[in-house]
Amino acid sequence: MTGDPSSGVPLRIRGAALRRGQRELWAGLDLDVEPGEFIAVLGPSGSGKTTLLRALLGLEEVSAGTVEVAGSRVRGRGNRRIGYVPQQRPLPPETSLRGRDLVGLGVSGHRFGFPVPRRADRARVDALVAEVGATSFADRPVGELSGGEQQRLRIGQALADDPVVLLCDEPLTSLDLANQRAIVSLIDSHRRARGTAVLFVTHDINPVLDVVDRILYIAGGSFMLGSPDEVLDSDVLTRLYGAPVEVLRAGGRLVVVGAPDAEAAHHHHSEAAE
Ligand code: ADP
Ligand code: MG
Repeated sequence: MTGDPSSGVPLRIRGAALRRGQRELWAGLDLDVEPGEFIAVLGPSGSGKTTLLRALLGLEEVSAGTVEVAGSRVRGRGNRRIGYVPQQRPLPPETSLRGRDLVGLGVSGHRFGFPVPRRADRARVDALVAEVGATSFADRPVGELSGGEQQRLRIGQALADDPVVLLCDEPLTSLDLANQRAIVSLIDSHRRARGTAVLFVTHDINPVLDVVDRILYIAGGSFMLGSPDEVLDSDVLTRLYGAPVEVLRAGGRLVVVGAPDAEAAHHHHSEAAE
């Protein structure tokens, strides 16, 4: 092989498994994410979606297999090549940090406690604030901002170091339809412009159905990876859950009916996904 072919792959997962206590969340996961690819991660509560993102960040250890980001093994905590929007905890109303300072926390110099913002950092923060459509409220305390406004700023922070991979953990939760669209569209534009690979955890596929390339569906201790048409299929999901599940299409929307709760559907050693 010439050069290092794997360094062009934003994210490479090989034979990964995740065990928590006696419970195997999933095993045998192989995934190569292409530059600019948008992958939605679906699955019931407790299926291991957050733990997967944390494992990619090196915050959790996989119990088997390897994870590489831009050709390097993930080890230790945090990784500047990965942007991360954690599952939301709304910021307390008394948070006095200004919006632009929240974004600035993602710029390396600031993150490592640089006391005085450098001019280059300031320009970088301005550009990020503009990119996420936050210019009009970036000087207000974040505690006063709406959920949608806070989410834009958190995405700006995650994009600050121009990551090769962006991990978003249920970033649409508690947003109205207009804000959901806005958030999806700005992430979609960014990955198209910059080639950033996106792993996007969501409990509802509908807001991302138009932009998604592949779906990783985790359920019942197993997973299925493929195009939306391959994965969002009644037979496929019925096998995955080990219980009757129906995928209905109505008015351009997609509804998964009968998906049992994760706790009721443990098949720790079910067949590996196809
Ligand atoms: P999801 O994001 O899909 O809702 P999580 O990844 O948060 O699921 O959690 C998956 C399962 O792993 C849950 O049952 C959770 O209780 C368990 N879990 C997560 N982290 C740990 C941990 N550090 N130790 C033990 N169990 C954990
Ligand atoms: Mg979660």
